Amino acid sequence: MTTKRLLLVMAACTLARASAQQAPPAPAAAVAVAVDPDLKLEGASPEQADLIQRAKAELDRVLDSDDFRKAIERATFEGRRLRLANGDIQEPDNAEILKIILEGRERQTQADNKMTLDVRLRELRRGTVGSTRLGSVGKITTSYWFVNRCVEGNDPYSMAGHLAHEWMHKAGFTHYPDNSARGDVPYEVGQIVRKLARDEQTAKNKALGLSAEYDRLPGYLLDEAEDEVID
Ligand SMILES: [Zn+2]
Repeated sequence: MTTKRLLLVMAACTLARASAQQAPPAPAAAVAVAVDPDLKLEGASPEQADLIQRAKAELDRVLDSDDFRKAIERATFEGRRLRLANGDIQEPDNAEILKIILEGRERQTQADNKMTLDVRLRELRRGTVGSTRLGSVGKITTSYWFVNRCVEGNDPYSMAGHLAHEWMHKAGFTHYPDNSARGDVPYEVGQIVRKLARDEQTAKNKALGLSAEYDRLPGYLLDEAEDEVID
């Protein structure tokens, strides 16, 4: 090898080493979750169906955002109980919770990057937003009173939060010690989705000089209402 070529090889090695040192940490595996486009809806009027489709679009957008990932990574969950199919309880950390969401991993499915959200509307007692069978691949039940309030309030954001909350039950996350618990994984994920969806709309309206119509919504929708998880 000539001296010149040797120098070139050495230079190349130096460059390679420098770039290896400066390289940012490898990004997490590319995962992109989306709401299953085949959203099935049962018992919905055209207005209710339209609201739920808008909520689905909001949820899709939030799930795809860096803000969502950061919010889940930083979230303080007051409960993180995940019940596995064999009955064992795990308490996954924030990174694992985010991974389950981004992989679209319902308890009974493998990672398919799809959130399956079959929704049926039912009459539930006032105060009960919805119910989901824990770890189920079946339907999410949403109450008529809740969807009607969202329609009246032009509020797909609370519905998006509700859908995310119920999906966490499909993934196996439960309320503990009972359904009156707050601040756990399903509640926090629901609130994060709702807040990010609303923030985005606030920013858009502000940029357009529009009034924030949704800010006049009754703010209680997810804050005061309960949901039921059926074990
Ligand atoms: Zn719940």
